[in-house]
Parts: sequence; structure tokens; C-alpha cells
Amino acid sequence: MGGMSSPEGHPELQAMLNDLRTLVEIESPSSDLAAICRVMDVVEQWARDLGAETHGLPGGTRLFNFGVGYDEQPILVLTHADTVWPHGTLAQMPWRVEGDRLYGPGTYDMKAGIVGLIHALRSLNHGWPRGGVQVLLSPDEETGSASSRGHIENAARHARAVLVVEPPVADSHNLKTGRKGTGHFSLHFHGVASHAGNKPEEGASAITAAAQAVLEIQALARPDIGTTISVGLIRGGSAVNVVPAECVLDVDLRVSTLAEAERVTAAVQAMTPADPRVTLTLGGGLNRPPFEQGGATMALFAQAQAIGQQLGFTVGHEVVGGGSDGNFTAPLAPTLDGLGAPGDGAHASHEHVRLDRWPDHVRLLTRLLKEI
Ligand SMILES: [Zn+2]
Repeated sequence: MGGMSSPEGHPELQAMLNDLRTLVEIESPSSDLAAICRVMDVVEQWARDLGAETHGLPGGTRLFNFGVGYDEQPILVLTHADTVWPHGTLAQMPWRVEGDRLYGPGTYDMKAGIVGLIHALRSLNHGWPRGGVQVLLSPDEETGSASSRGHIENAARHARAVLVVEPPVADSHNLKTGRKGTGHFSLHFHGVASHAGNKPEEGASAITAAAQAVLEIQALARPDIGTTISVGLIRGGSAVNVVPAECVLDVDLRVSTLAEAERVTAAVQAMTPADPRVTLTLGGGLNRPPFEQGGATMALFAQAQAIGQQLGFTVGHEVVGGGSDGNFTAPLAPTLDGLGAPGDGAHASHEHVRLDRWPDHVRLLTRLLKEI
């Protein structure tokens, strides 16, 4: 272990902290592309300073090419510049270092991943690997990558490996060799409104239909094989004395296999309200397919593990429930995820990076870029 208790006296860590602070103090919620562009502009300038050829793609995604030729396949590195934090968050949870922990919105997920990558690239000293390195910076990972997905898949088709600098698992600092697929269904029930006292029989309750559907949907879960379902939002009705004409359910779905996604989707599509006067409009579906742990990923992990051993620390791996853009690339190219900065508290007020562990993980990434 590095065992460092403060950044002072560690020039490399201090330099990474300076760069990270620059990114963190530009708030960049997924909903504000202009703010995200300000973060991207900083990263793009760092990339240009390293000699990268840079491209802006439709929707806001950027591509930075380091020594990418036309004849060989590059290593693709996935990053995102958006965060889940709205403007004003910095005032509530400001940048601060406490002992070995650096706190702040978007630090762990994933601005420290971007900074660690830039420092890894700098330390290659223009000695790019065969085929070069292509860095993709997405503006909308946290909301499902609607604008960047096509660019990510295109880049992955031409890559010989994909490294995702999302953070490693909290506490264990394990790399991520698989992720569940994620889906979202929106069920809109349309009933018939009527006076709840004078003419209840003329009404058809959208809430009653939705309530029955909640139980049917929850019963589709198969946690034993990784399929979890949560009806996370419900809203409906207009007044307590009106039979409700509208009710909407929003459902979160996680699956370990595509077959399970198809089973649940088919079941939800087949749902019919018991009261024929209530109609159902279904939206959504599977967003990110499952990143199923496979041999190509495990071969990359074995390389990472061996490098960790040489560097003097243990590198583990696991399959996690949350999705990332690695879910899109895993079917297309060998993908290894969790190569960002160690820490904890993604999407939570205690979000932080572990400064005692971060330099080790940057060294690991540097070696992977050299040796894959
Ligand atoms: Zn992330």
C-alpha cells in the first residue's frame, strides 16, 4: 500500500488533486449540457496538450485519439463528464480532504476516474500502445446514455479492448467483471373518472388496476437468478372524492441475463387490467443489456491481477448490480470495468475518493494501457 495519510509531500497525488478540484468545481448535472461541456473543454485541453487528436460528435460526446493509426485497433477507454448532482450541491457538500478521504460531488463517480486516466496517459510519455488509445467522454451516462450509446458501440466495434474508468467496488476496491442489465418500465393506466359518492359505479379506478399490477409485477422477480424488480414510483388520482381516472407506475428492473429481460418484458407487455374499462399504455423496456462475465473479460482481469501482484497489492473482481456504458461494449469487445478511483458513496452525500489507494489504481491503469 501507498500508506500516505496526506497529499502534502506526494507531488504526484497533489497534481492529481489539483486537476480533480478543477473538474469537481465545475458542476455538471446530466440535465445541463452547457455545464458538461465546460468540464469536457478542460479535459479536451489536457488531451490536446498530450498530442491527442480530438473530435466532437453529435449529441455532445467527445473522442480523443492518442496515437491511433488506421491499421490497428486501439484500446478504448470509457469516461463520462456528467454527474447525478444538481447545481448548488457544492455549497452543501464542498470539496474537502479529511485524512485519507477526499469528499465532493462527482469525485468518485467519476471525475477522479477521468483525472487518473489523464495522469496514466501522461506517464506513458507519448509511448502509446499498439493501435493507440481512444478515450470516449460521454455527456449522459447517468441518465442511460441516450445520446452516446451509438458512439460507444461504434467505437467498441473497432477496439481490441475496452477499459471503463468507473470506480471500483466500494470497500473491497474490486474491479467489475460483470454488471446486471437495467430496465425501466412506465405503466400508464387510464380509467374513467366519476363522483365517488353519487355515481361510483360509473367510474373505473386506475389506482385499483395499478395496485393489482404492482403485485403482479413484483411477483415476476427472481432474485435467486439475479432478477430484481422494484415499483419505485406511483402517482395517480385527482381528488379523494373522485374515482381516479389516471395512475402511473415506474418500475426498475435488473437482470443478469438477456433471457430474463425478455421473460419479464413479455410478461409486462401481456398485462391487462381486470376491469375492461381501464386501458394500459406501456413505455420503456431494457435500457442497458447485461454485461455477462465472459472469458475475454476474465483474461483482461487476469492481466490486471498479475500487475497488481507486481505492484504489491491485491486486485479482486466481482459482478455488480448497477449498469455502466461497459454494458454496451461487453458484447462487442473484451471489457474490464472499475478502473477508476477507489472510494465510496456514489450518488450519496458521503461520496469520496480514497487518497491512500488512488495512486495504486492509477499505476494499475497505466500498466494495463502499456501491456494489453
Ligand atoms: Zn459513473
